[in-house]
Amino acid sequence: MKLDALAGNAALKEQLSAQEKGRGLSHAYLISGPAGSGKRTLARLLSAAMVCTGSGEKPCGSCAACKKVFGGIHPDVIQVGADGKDISVGQAREARSDAYIRPNEGARKVYVFHNAHNMTTAAQNALLKLLEEGPAYAAFLLLAENPGSVLTTIRSRCEGAALTPVTAAEAEYELARRFPQVSRDLRHAAARRCGGLLGQAVAELESQEAGDQLRAECARFLELLAQKNELEFAAWCVELEKWERSNLLLLLERSTALLGDALALQKGGDLLTASPEELPSLQKAAALPPQKLLRTVELLKKLKNDAAFNVNGGQLCGALAAGVHGGQL
Ligand SMILES: [Zn+2]
Repeated sequence: MKLDALAGNAALKEQLSAQEKGRGLSHAYLISGPAGSGKRTLARLLSAAMVCTGSGEKPCGSCAACKKVFGGIHPDVIQVGADGKDISVGQAREARSDAYIRPNEGARKVYVFHNAHNMTTAAQNALLKLLEEGPAYAAFLLLAENPGSVLTTIRSRCEGAALTPVTAAEAEYELARRFPQVSRDLRHAAARRCGGLLGQAVAELESQEAGDQLRAECARFLELLAQKNELEFAAWCVELEKWERSNLLLLLERSTALLGDALALQKGGDLLTASPEELPSLQKAAALPPQKLLRTVELLKKLKNDAAFNVNGGQLCGALAAGVHGGQL
């Protein structure tokens, strides 16, 4: 099997590959390990291997089925409880009745149960019936931080796949592959801090990158505002439309706070939010008349309120472009 995307865990990968080559993959796995140990990565690889239509080693990663699994859109790979909430008995029963509807595209249907360690006994019993009586084309991947909290009857019907923490060197190797743009020192520090739980280091670097990007775009906003270049500002707003809504809201929030600092700067007051790197863009914005800054603050606040009423990202960015340079400010 092609399991390189899962860091470390050499013995487990060998065991799964041998199994796949021999009697074939099992219909149920209990994938266990602490948060950040790679449970979701392994579940994705196993689901892809189960529905892969490519020839050669599975998952091939390039057939339409694999691409859909890795993109999270394969109709026959069903995620239960991926939102992090506990799986209810209703959800387990729903999966049970859904399992009897034949696969849409492939030969198999794969159910991934997230946080199986947090399922109530009633939900686990419904899941047990599914494991016992489910159709032959159905496969089940149960993800659990603590396999001990899964009913013994369920455990006995699953093949165990226990993930182990990776070494610092393995973590660093994987981080270099995924974050080539991040400095070696930062990757090294994150790899050491994660204690072998690679997912935690990935989350740390991702949030750091998101934070860096957010700060850079807020600075860009202040500079564009100061430049009064309508076309460039509109082009920047179009770029923003690609952002996730939650990040857009963060951008509105931080920019509002920075404009507050620009006003404070004009009056010689203390800066509340700005970091030293943001000072140059802040100074440019502080050169604008205070009325303009105040009206921009009002506009950003209004957009944030509008966002609470399901106004989508495109509309928000359009309103930002129109509001800043549409003569209203
Ligand atoms: Zn494939």
